[in-house]
Parts: sequence; C-alpha cells; structure tokens
Amino acid sequence: MTAFPAGTILGYPRIGRRRELKKVVEAFWAGRIDESALEASAAELRAANRARLAELGLGREDSSIPESFSYYDQVLDAAVTVGAVPARFEDLRSSDGTIGLPAYFTIARGEGDRAPLEMTKWFDSNYHYLVPEIGPETVFSLSSDRLVREVVEAADAGYRTRPVIVGPVTLLALAKASDAAPVGFDPLSRLDDVVAVYVELLAKLKAAGAAWVQLDEPALVSESLPASTTELADAAQRALAVLGGRAERPSIFVSAPYAALGEVLEVLATAPIEAIGVDLVRGSVPAKLPELGGKTLVGGVVDGHNIWRGDLDGAFAKLEALRDLGAASVSASTSTSLLHVPHDVQDETKLDPRLVSWLAFADQKVGQIVTLADGLGAGRDAIAEELDAATAALADRHGAPGVRDGAVRRRELAEADFSRVTYEEREAAQESLALPSLPLTTIGSFPQTGDIRRARAQFTRGELPQDDYEAFLKAEIDRVVALQEDLGLDVLVHGEPERNDMVQYFAENLDGFAVTENGWVQSYGSRATRPSILWGDVSRPAPITVSWASYAQSLSVKPVKGMLTGPVTILAWSFVRDDQPLGETANQVALALRDEIADLEAAGIAIIQVDEPALRELLPLKKADQPAYLDWSVRSFRLATGGAEAATQVHTHLCYSEFGVVIDAIRALDADVTSIEAARSRMEVVAEVAAAGFDHGIGPGVYDIHSPRVPSVEEIESLLRRAVDELPLHQLWVNPDCGLKTRGYDETVASLRNIVEATRRVREDAVVPA
Ligand code: GLN
Ligand code: ZN
Repeated sequence: MTAFPAGTILGYPRIGRRRELKKVVEAFWAGRIDESALEASAAELRAANRARLAELGLGREDSSIPESFSYYDQVLDAAVTVGAVPARFEDLRSSDGTIGLPAYFTIARGEGDRAPLEMTKWFDSNYHYLVPEIGPETVFSLSSDRLVREVVEAADAGYRTRPVIVGPVTLLALAKASDAAPVGFDPLSRLDDVVAVYVELLAKLKAAGAAWVQLDEPALVSESLPASTTELADAAQRALAVLGGRAERPSIFVSAPYAALGEVLEVLATAPIEAIGVDLVRGSVPAKLPELGGKTLVGGVVDGHNIWRGDLDGAFAKLEALRDLGAASVSASTSTSLLHVPHDVQDETKLDPRLVSWLAFADQKVGQIVTLADGLGAGRDAIAEELDAATAALADRHGAPGVRDGAVRRRELAEADFSRVTYEEREAAQESLALPSLPLTTIGSFPQTGDIRRARAQFTRGELPQDDYEAFLKAEIDRVVALQEDLGLDVLVHGEPERNDMVQYFAENLDGFAVTENGWVQSYGSRATRPSILWGDVSRPAPITVSWASYAQSLSVKPVKGMLTGPVTILAWSFVRDDQPLGETANQVALALRDEIADLEAAGIAIIQVDEPALRELLPLKKADQPAYLDWSVRSFRLATGGAEAATQVHTHLCYSEFGVVIDAIRALDADVTSIEAARSRMEVVAEVAAAGFDHGIGPGVYDIHSPRVPSVEEIESLLRRAVDELPLHQLWVNPDCGLKTRGYDETVASLRNIVEATRRVREDAVVPA
C-alpha cells in the first residue's frame, strides 16, 4: 500500500480561474461548439489545474492531487456513474447502456416537458446539487467511466492523482424517492445494489493506476437529513465492509466534511479502509481517539469554507494534538473541498494590499497545506517562519483601522429595539393602506434585460456617465411601474434594475465590505457568484435605496414597496469575518438596515420588504447548534425591522417551502407579511402554515419563476382556491414564488396577467356580500 500523502486538499474549484468552464459549457448548450471541442477544453482546464497544484507544491505522484473535476455537479456525477437515472431520461442512454455528456446535461437541465432533477443546497453551503431520484425500479449499473478516464488522462501526463467521488451513503441519503416509488420508500434501502456498482468502479480505478480513492461522505455528519445518524452509521458500516473487503481496489480514504464526525468516527475506525478525513474547523480534536488499526487520520485544519488566511499555528497544533492522541499517522488537509472559495487572491489587483495579506483563496490554502505537511515531516521549527507570518497577519488584522470602528461599537442596543408593537395594533394602523382582499404583489425584481446588463457594464467601465446611467434606470422604473399599474397589481415595486445582485449591491454601498474582481465561486452548474468580503465593522455612509424607492413612489398612488436584503442573507452570501460571533456581525448589518428603514419611512414609503432567502441555508447541521443560530438570526432581523412605525407594513421573503424546520423562527421574525415558495409543491406548504397556527400575512407563491413556463389561469386559480380553503382570506397575499429577474418579459407579463385574472375569479367567489 502507498502511504497517504502528508498533505492534500479535498477538492479544487472546477469552473476555472476566469470561469472558462462556464464559457465552454454554455457554448456547447447553445450549439456553438461540439462535444469533442467541449471535452478538449475541459481536458485543458484539468491539465492546467494539475500543473498549478504541482507548482504550488502538491506531489505529482503521491496521490495528493485530487481528481475532482465536474462538468456540472458532483452528486449528478455519482448518480450517473451508478446509472441512477429517472425513468423519464432512460431513453437517453447510448446503445451500450452508458450515459454520455449530452444526456448528462439533459438530466441536469431538463428538456421540454421532462423536468430536470430538483436542485437543493449542499449541506450548509451556498452550493446547490441535483437531487437524485431513486426507487425500487432503479436499475444500477456502471454507466459512466468518466472518472476512470480522468485518472488515465492524468497518468498520461505524468501524474498519479486521487479520484474523488460522492460515496454511496451520501448519494442515497441525499436522493429522494422516485415518482414510481411507493409511499414511504427510502432510497437507502437500495444500498447493497449501489455498493455493487462502486465495487466495479473501484476495480476500474485501481486498474487505471489509482493508488487511492476518496469517497466523500458528508451525510455522516449531518443531522438535518431524513435518515438518522444511527441509520447513516449502519449504512456506512455495511457499505465499507463490502468495498473494503475487495482485493481489487485502491486504498480508500473516506472524508466526512462540514461538521464534527462524532460517534461515526468509531464506525470508520473499525471499517476496512485506510484513511479517514475529519473536519477540524467545524469539529474539534476529539478528547480521545478510537483504535484506528493503522489508518491515517487526515485532519481538515485549513478552512475550505472561507477566504481567511487564519491561524496556521493553531492548525498545526491541531495536527500535533491528533498525533499525541495516538493516531498511527496524521496528514493535513482542507476541512472541505476548495469548491467554496475562489482560485487565487493574486488575481485581485484592486483590493487593499493590507486586506490581501489577511486572505487565502484556494491557491493560498494549498500553500498552507504544503507548509503544514512539511511541518508534520520535519517538525515545527522547519515551518516556524510561515506559522509566525500567519500569526503576524492575524494580529495586524485585529488592530487594523475599520476592523473595529468606534462609532459602530458605541451604538448601544436596548431590548426594546428588537420588538415592534403587537401585531393587532399594527394591523389596525395599516388599515390606512386600504388594500383589497388577496392583495396582488411581486417579490421585487423585474426581468434584468440585456439592455440593463449592458448599461450597467458600460457604467462600471466608465463608458456611460453617471447622469445618463441614472436616467436610463429611471426610464426603466417608469416602464416597470406603468406595467404594474396596467396589470392591476396592488402593491408595486421599482423592479431593482440598479442591482447587480441582491447582496453585492448592499456590500458595495456599506462600509466594512470589499468586492473582488475575479472571486468567482460556483453556485450550481455553470452559475457562479462573486461573494463580497465582509472584513470590518459595518456601517452605512449614506442612504442606499431611498432615492430609487421614492422615485418609484412618485409615479403611482398605489403603495410601492421598499426593498432591502436582510442581515442573515447578506452574511450567508458573503465571505464573513471569522474573528467575532456571526450574531455580532449580523447586528451591525441590522443597524445599517434599521437606519435605511427610518429613511425610507421619512421619504413616504409605507411598505418595506426585508428579504431573508438564506435564513434556512445557514442552519447548522448539528441539532445542538441550531437554537443558538435561530436565536441570533431572528434577532438580527428584528433589530433591522424593530424601529419601523406601526403603520409601516414590514414584509419578508423566503426562497423555499420547507417551512417545517424553521416555522418557529419565521413566526419569531414577526414580519407583517411573509412570501414563500409554493408553486412547485402545489401549495402543500399552506397546510403546514395553517397547522402551525401562523396568523400573520402570508403569500404562498403561485408562479414557479425557475421555469419559463406560463401557468394558466385555471392552474393558478386552483392553487389559490387551495390556499383559500386552508387559511383565512384576510391573511392571504398573491405573488410569484420569487423575484422575476431571471425571466424574460414575454413570459413574465403573460404569467402576471394570468395571476391577476385568477385572483379576480377567486375574489369574486370569496367575498360574500353583506
Ligand atoms: N427581492 C429579490 C428579488 O425579487 C428577492 C430575491 C430572492 O429571494 N432571492 O429578486
Ligand atoms: Zn426568493
């Protein structure tokens, strides 16, 4: 057996330093390049990544370079590899039963009336994976040898890389039951069949020259999945007994990132595998280690989740602690794949050099791993200089201007700041809005047309003068307000044309944030976002949204909603400072928003929406950590909105329909009106809302904005009738699932017309004449 490398990363960004993968994949989708051209570009990208990792100090032949590429998503990769394809796509298989690249993309993106796989958040990150559909009818068979080919491709170029694949337990634990499955079917019940395919795959990887394989099993650390920890541990035990029992396989490294491994460590310790990865950023060094039977313990001590250079000395101390506890052999790794961070801080030319010295993107983190690995071999003294430099950078950061801002810290919070008057009093005060029953509104953004993007790009490049850009945006608002008047909506929006992104826009207008040029992070498929860096104390140098909101309000006698992004979402979609509790940072953002709300009120805005689509996403994976999170997240929202007058109607918007887990938190937000997603699940959530006794305003979405489909009047009407049957009329609002920015105008206008007509019909029946 070849030893596990002294240092490695769990995975590397796949989209390319300049989003090269996005460009070629989208060109392929658009028919501008053919499959072989796409394959060639992807191979080039993989070659560049391997070369870069070797240049940064990972070994070419010691399995330390992961083979972690994906064209779209690693969960889809695993599902396709084992042939877990929903029946509606079965005809896409090639004659030899394999699933080629065009079929792979069709499963990811859908085609005509064949719906794609559903998409949902990957653990507590902002990455989205595709949800496999598995039933008793699923026939598992090795259906793609892509990973094997990549290992061979690497070998041809002189590398021995370590193939990475989502493990069988996580694949099944994240899957949902197929449409054909009987009620209550559990995909985990198919474990033995899936494992048989992994056996075959491992044999092929071995034959291709892989010395190690990495099975990612983050499901083992999550307490937020349908399967219990015990069920997952049992499944892991069964799966690994089979996989590990085979002679024809590479050495097996099971990684369990995103949280502490806890008792499952015992299961892995006794399994016939060779290395175990533990997340020591989210979890701590265990007080005592189980007997590892000669296995390597791979300490995930460099944070794969954030962009801070961090405490390298502390990271090394954790590795030494593992050794002192008696692990036979210890290696250094990142806590998670580096998928969650941008490529290289050296690609940033506009960031303050002092800030840069505090940062580590993927390539810098690889450098840190190489340092730690050297230290494991040669002792602490050999790397003392690097450790000290990181410590000095931390100290510099601690004392730097802006990191602690006296004016922000002097603002005192009183308990009363977190509460408004009672809902009843507010309802009475808001009567003056004179809204009809089933008020019609939208979530905020209108389509971001090519014209808007072009104008913004020209303005950013300095090619369009500020005045012209503002005039352009005002004309856009004129159009959007006139359209809403024409459609007959009751509460209008300005359409958000001035925002590139609902978080970045605020980051650009608040102190304490920095914005990157090339800091792209994959969000799903070919989509990437550029999270801002929240590095210092947050404050608001000037009002942000007031001029746009009041301009829009000046165009209509109907109320126009002010639109803000909430503190939790701003944190969730940024890289956040790690030197103080998140709740403290959230409260600083909340205070800035609170001031913005006061200014909006003063400008005559009567309805203000504070979006919190990420509330659910940051929910910790461990149940024990959830109450504290829900407490600070709810409090930050309440601090942001708690200063609003009784007559000001506060709305919030959440982007999902899994109401259950967070229902108490949503109630505690105490918003006057909450809009949520509901169209895809055909209003199922309304029953949950009713059962929970939720009594504030609620707008279950009637239009699935993730699809270009225009819902018919009848379809919307039936959704609305379902809602009206379950909930009191006065509580209900009518709105789409989410913002319209990704949609085109044709389908948006047609859909909104149908929503208005459906609402008219339901109102007619529902309003009983006195
Ligand atoms: N107000 C935002 C919009 O309409 C909300 C977007 C979101 O929930 N992600 O685009
Ligand atoms: Zn939304």
